[in-house]
Amino acid sequence: MDSSRSIERLITGVATSDGAGVTLTRVLTGKLQRRLDPYLMLDAFGSDDPDDYIAGFPDHPHRGFETITYMLAGRMRHRDSAGHEGLLENGGVQWMTAGRGVIHSEIPEQEAGVMEGFQLWLNLPASHKLCEPWYQDFPTAAIPEFTTAAGVLVRVIAGVSHGIAGVVQRDFTEPVYLDVHLPANSTFTTELPMTHNAFIYVYRGAAQVGETQVDKQRMGILSNTADSVTITASEDTRLILVAGKPLNEPIVQYGPFVMNTQAEINQALDDFRNGRMA
Ligand code: FE
Repeated sequence: MDSSRSIERLITGVATSDGAGVTLTRVLTGKLQRRLDPYLMLDAFGSDDPDDYIAGFPDHPHRGFETITYMLAGRMRHRDSAGHEGLLENGGVQWMTAGRGVIHSEIPEQEAGVMEGFQLWLNLPASHKLCEPWYQDFPTAAIPEFTTAAGVLVRVIAGVSHGIAGVVQRDFTEPVYLDVHLPANSTFTTELPMTHNAFIYVYRGAAQVGETQVDKQRMGILSNTADSVTITASEDTRLILVAGKPLNEPIVQYGPFVMNTQAEINQALDDFRNGRMA
C-alpha cells in the first residue's frame, strides 16, 4: 500500500452563470459525479465586482441531496419554504438537507466588497432522498479548528481529522470537509479511509501531493490508493479537502433535482409544478 494518496487527475473549472446571473466556476461537473460519488457538484465563487454576485439566487427548488455552502467572505441571506431563515457570513457554513423538497432563496446582503466561497452538493442515499428537510447555520466561531506542530491551520467542517470532529457528521456518506491553511514550506497529513472518494481544491497559493503540483483554482482528484494523504506547500496556500463514502447508486439529475430514476425526476417536477414541494 502507498503511504499517501497521489493526484490521479487535475481538473480546471468551467466559468458559468447561475441563479439570476451569478458568475461562478463549476469545478465538479456532471461528468465527475460517478468518480467523486457521493459528491454531485462543486461551485467556487469569488469576486470583488458586485455585478458578479448581486442578483443572487431567487426562489428555486431542490430535492434528493444536501447543499453545503462555505462562505469565506461576504454576507448571504437564506430563506426557505420550511420557514428557515439565516445569514451566512465570513467563515460560516450553511448545511441544508433538501430531502423531499425545499424552495429557497440565497440573496447577497452586501452591495460592495468581496464575496468568496464554495457550494458543494452531497448526495443522499435512495432510502433518504425523500426525508424531512433539515437546515443549520454554523457561524465561523462554531467551526472546530486545530493547528499542527508545523503551523498548519485546519478548520473541520465535517468528518474528523487528527481526532477533531467537525460540526456535521453523516452516517451514509461519511463526509469529510476540511479547510486547510498551509504556511510556506509546511506539510500536512491527514487520515482518509481508502474507499472514500476525495479531492482537493486550491484557492490560494499552490499545493504539492507527491510529484504533482495543484495550482490555484485547480481541483486534484486523489487516488484511492492509501488511507491518508500528505500535502506540502512551498508558499502560503489554502485549499479545501473533501472526501466521502460512495453510495454506488444510480444518479439521475435534472437541474436542482437529483434522484435515482427518471420516474422519480418526473415526480419531482410534477410535485414542484403543483405546489407539493413547499
Ligand atoms: Fe439552492
